[in-house]
Parts: sequence; structure tokens; C-alpha cells
Amino acid sequence: MNSKKFDVIIIGAGLSGLSVNRFLDKMSPDLDILVLEKSNRPGGAIRSMKKEGFLAEWGPHGFLDNVEENRELLGDLKIMDSAQKAPLKKFLRYICLGGKLITIPQTPPKIIRSNLMPFHSKMRVLGDLFLKPKPNEQTIADWAAYRFGKAMIPFADIAMTGTYAGDIDKLSIDAAMPGLRRLEKEFGSVFKGAIKSRKQKPNRSMPSMISFEDGMEHLVRKLAEGRNIRYKSSVDSIKRNETDWQVETGSGLYSAKSLVVALHINQALQLLKGIKKAPGPELPTATVINVVLGFDSSAEIPFGFGYLAPKSEQRFALGTLFSIHMFPKRAPDGLNLVEVLVGGNRNPERLELDDSELIDKAYRDISQLIKLPKPPVFSSVIRPKVGIPQLEMGYGKYLDYRESLHEEAEGLHICGFGWEGIGINEMVRQARKTAVDVLNRKASGSGPARAKPIYF
Ligand SMILES: Cc1cc2nc3c(=O)[nH]c(=O)nc-3n(C[C@H](O)[C@H](O)[C@H](O)COP(=O)(O)OP(=O)(O)OC[C@H]3O[C@@H](n4cnc5c(N)ncnc54)[C@H](O)[C@@H]3O)c2cc1C
Repeated sequence: MNSKKFDVIIIGAGLSGLSVNRFLDKMSPDLDILVLEKSNRPGGAIRSMKKEGFLAEWGPHGFLDNVEENRELLGDLKIMDSAQKAPLKKFLRYICLGGKLITIPQTPPKIIRSNLMPFHSKMRVLGDLFLKPKPNEQTIADWAAYRFGKAMIPFADIAMTGTYAGDIDKLSIDAAMPGLRRLEKEFGSVFKGAIKSRKQKPNRSMPSMISFEDGMEHLVRKLAEGRNIRYKSSVDSIKRNETDWQVETGSGLYSAKSLVVALHINQALQLLKGIKKAPGPELPTATVINVVLGFDSSAEIPFGFGYLAPKSEQRFALGTLFSIHMFPKRAPDGLNLVEVLVGGNRNPERLELDDSELIDKAYRDISQLIKLPKPPVFSSVIRPKVGIPQLEMGYGKYLDYRESLHEEAEGLHICGFGWEGIGINEMVRQARKTAVDVLNRKASGSGPARAKPIYF
């Protein structure tokens, strides 16, 4: 069978593949690019639900506007000005401690200055200034306890619950927060490193959380508009001949000099094992169910983004988003909307509960924390098909594997969900770098890990 030839083939029309496509097209408009997508829609994990006047999300609810590559992308798509912005300065987040919602000071130094910790725990946090970095890979729980003391563990826990829906006793600090680890190793202390980095970028103001009037799906729809995407085209195998990559789908054979695999890491491992044996099993993933609840005007939803509950609180929900406050027009006039997150790596058995049990348990759990005099007037359960990859202990071998493929397999570029991070900003940053690499016909490696500021 003859193959159809392109300059570049991108596998996957999720955020990563679509962003590589856009950046490539902008940098080199004459390139003939094809995107192959398994499903019948763009966006992968990003998808919004509209029902009876409520708007909720299958996957991400937003992202921070503090990454240059993403600002460039939104600017190119001309959607920056119409984006909905929830400034972190104004919107508070809460932690559930001792069965109550407590406002979290928005950065780790403010937590230390607050009265959330006893004096001796505050003194222990300063241990970071004096303790030698341990060279070996550590779990986030062990690392946080060693550097800052046990009192910081609930805060490390909610930071990871809010991003990975993961377990801090399994996630690796080296893999999940390589930027912090770099500061620790380079400057001997996270605080010293953070202060030095701040001096280099003195005007760093608090970012905003971004979404869109139609939800996050607006972003991927805009990215996909007018692009050469072939839907319902699942790639079954990839092979390289002397000059080109051959890509086989059920409906056709395609070839290109450059091939971008922009998939969830586990889907990528399936395809790449035909080129080189995988370094281990698939990564564990965390699935988060979203129990969407609407209430009448008697509900008193505290102002802010929502709350997260550390493992030690042993609650039913991982946390709840106060969606009615976060972004406007997510519920019919006069009604309230919250999205209750359940499951994750902490309570995978709860993913098996049926919808009515989930709604009932979620409602009972949050009504102990929020004044909800009447039961929900609307409910819907969203069960995402995509799990969040868990960058747990030993993850480094997957990055080494990717590095070795980049070196050995000419014209192959790998990015996507779970390769060097899991967040939208990380995906877009990687996508831009991948586009540059495709044009330079080389793979430039990971580069130094950036330390992301932690905000609550
Ligand atoms: C529940 C959840 C909540 C999240 N919340 C946030 C958040 O609040 N903030 C944030 O920054 N990030 C969040 N994320 C992460 C964010 O959604 C991801 O970073 C991003 O969507 C990953 O995009 P991707 O294109 O790399 O992967 P994916 O979205 O997985 O896309 C991969 C695409 O490839 C397609 N595909 C798979 N196999 C093949 C094949 N063989 N052939 C062709 N096509 C194939 C799939 O159908 C899919 O469309 C969340 C993720 C989840 C799941």
C-alpha cells in the first residue's frame, strides 16, 4: 500500500499535539502537517460539560497565566482578552483541617508566618536553611518531613492532591517537583534558592487562573480550528525506513520525515515499544470523578476557589471547587454550583461506586463543611476516561528512555501528558520546545528543571 507523504505527522490531537501543530505552523507556515487522532473530537483530557444551564469540566478547570509559552499561544489564538481570569490574590483556597475549612495563606512563606503552625514547628521549617540535601530520590512525604518538619506534610499533601490527585507517600519529589529539588541541590536550601531566583525576577506578581466562557473546551476547539486533523484514526504502529517514518492506522498508511508522538505517556509507551523495549510497566494513573452539584440560593458557598482535604482528614471527597465563584455564568441565575472531586490515587475503590451513592456521599461530606440547608437541585457525575499519570519513585527511567529514543531514532519527537510533568502549562512549554526541535531536526534534551512557585 502506498503511503501519503507529509513533512510532519503528529499523533494525538490533545492539547500537546494541537499546540505543537500551532507552533510549527507559525514558525514555518509552508510545512505540510497531518494530525492523527483516535477519537472523533479534539482535546483529549480537556472537555467541558453543559447540562441544564450548568457548566462543569471533565478534566482541567483552568491554568495559571504565568507561563510565557502559553501566553504566546493564547495571544496567537486571539483568546487572551476574552479569557475569564480569577486572580489568585482575590480568590482564596481553603484547607480542611480538624473538620473545618481554614483559609490558606497563598504561598509557603505566608503559611509559616501564619498561626496555622505552633512556634516549634515554625522553627523546624527553618531547618531547610541548614540541612544538607540528601542525594537519593525520595517520596514527597519523606522529603517534606526531612527539609521542613512533619507540620508541613498536610500542605505538601494538598499541593499534590490538587495537581496529581496523588499519594505523597509514593510520588517522587525528583520527578514531580524537579525545580524545587534543583533549588535545594544548587543552593543547599529551598528558601535560599527561592530568594535568589526572586531577586533575578523581582516583579513577579501573583498570577490568575484562566478559563473561558464556554469552559476549557474553548481552548482546544480554537487550537483545532482549520487544522489538518484526521479523526477516528488510531495509530496502530510506527516504523522507520531509511528516510521516513511510516505510520499505520486502520484507515491508511502515512509517512513523514518528522514524527511527533504527543500522547499520554502510557499510550506513547504502547506505540514506542515497537521501536525499543519499554523501561518498565505503564505508569500508575489517578482517576478523579467529578460530582457536579447545583444548589438553590440558600446555599452559603464560601468565597474562593474551593478547598482541598489532606489524607489525614480521612474525608470522602479530595476537595471541592467553588465553581460558582471561580468563573462567571457556570450556573443558571440564582443557583449555585460546586464540583466535588472524589477518588484519585488515595481512594481508588470509590471509583466503583454508582452515581447515586457518589452524589449522596459527596453531598453528605460537603454539608459538614459548608452551609447547605437544602439538598442539591441538580446533580451529575463525570467519570473521566483519562487518568493523571503518577510520577512516582523510579520515574526517571522513563525520561532516560525518551532521551535514548531521541538520540537513536532520527526525526522522532516525544511530548505529552506525563512526560516531564502533567499540567497544561508544562504541556504547552514542551510543545513549543518540540516544535523548535522538529525544525532544527534534533532533540535538545530536557534542560534544567524550572522551579514553579507554589500557590494555594
Ligand atoms: C481529571 C483531570 C484534571 C486535570 N486538571 C488540570 C488542571 O486543573 N490544570 C492543569 O494545568 N492540568 C490539569 N490536567 C492535566 C491536563 O488536562 C493535561 O496536561 C493535558 O490535557 C494533556 O494533554 P495531552 O495532549 O498531552 O494528552 P491527552 O489529553 O491525553 O491527549 C492525547 C490524545 O491522543 C489521542 N490518542 C491516544 N492514542 C492514540 C493513538 N494510538 N492514535 C491516535 N491518537 C491517539 C487521544 O484520543 C487524545 O485525544 C488535568 C487532567 C485530568 C485528567
